[in-house]
Amino acid sequence: MVCGNTSYELAQVIGRFGDTFIENYSPNAYVQRTLRAIQHCRISSLGGHIDQCDVCGYIRISYNSCRNRHCPKCQNTHREAWIENRKLDLLPVPYFHVVFTVPDKLNRLFITSASGTMFLFNVKNLSVVFRGKFMAGLVKQIPQEKTFIRELYQTGWVVYAKEPYAGPEQMEYLGCYTHKVAISNHRLLNTDESGVRFRYRDYRDDRQKEMTLGGAEFLRQFCQHILPKGFVRIRHYGLLSTAKRPELRELQQAFGLSVPKVIDKKNWKQICGCISITTRTAAPAVGKAKWLQLECIWLAGHHLTVYPQ
Ligand SMILES: [Zn+2]
Repeated sequence: MVCGNTSYELAQVIGRFGDTFIENYSPNAYVQRTLRAIQHCRISSLGGHIDQCDVCGYIRISYNSCRNRHCPKCQNTHREAWIENRKLDLLPVPYFHVVFTVPDKLNRLFITSASGTMFLFNVKNLSVVFRGKFMAGLVKQIPQEKTFIRELYQTGWVVYAKEPYAGPEQMEYLGCYTHKVAISNHRLLNTDESGVRFRYRDYRDDRQKEMTLGGAEFLRQFCQHILPKGFVRIRHYGLLSTAKRPELRELQQAFGLSVPKVIDKKNWKQICGCISITTRTAAPAVGKAKWLQLECIWLAGHHLTVYPQ
């Protein structure tokens, strides 16, 4: 997933129209904090540090990222890190990609398909079980009118299941869905006093189109995609849950797979280096050269010098 260099960023749109949007629409404090985080991501106001190559002396400045899950810059990093971690959890067994879709009465569209040569469960049976479980949970959480419940039961709920077309390693495909942001920076075509022009796909005719919206309206629509606080997009169940991680590792060993005991966490710069997104800087020219941290840049312009060892 290469994002290339972009000339316009969501951060600029927030900088220009954020105050007007907040004044006009009074979003809650959580939404406002999210906007501010995105606005200041990887610029000097969030702090950062200065590194120098120990061989050629090349200096680079890196600013801290906001890590907000709605930030187009940070979500690339989150997605790549998530994909890498999921790949480490794989077992040498067949995998199935199963999609559960709720009916249009619940504002969703669903598509049906049968599975291929191998199958885990019959999708028709799975649909019935899914409907039962979903409805039981829904009614318990949010009581519904009896007629509405009956209508939902009369509707066929369909589950889509297939083998991943490029094998279980095809995590990138999943990652695109699980880590989608409302708009990525490369879709922004222009922003000026009049508003924001951007590219989008019209799913009615499956074509790329362009649209211009007033800045505050653009931000209002963007904020509709900000997930409520505490709302989780991804859950890992069963063997993939954190509590079962030791068992999963044992299983992997039993299958003869070698998984490192300690998995190094990569920071966004390392990940960005791999996928060449936005702020990648020139790497040290000589093979064994290292970056030495020269200075930390703190908030409010306070600097701290770190002497290289
Ligand atoms: Zn960010």
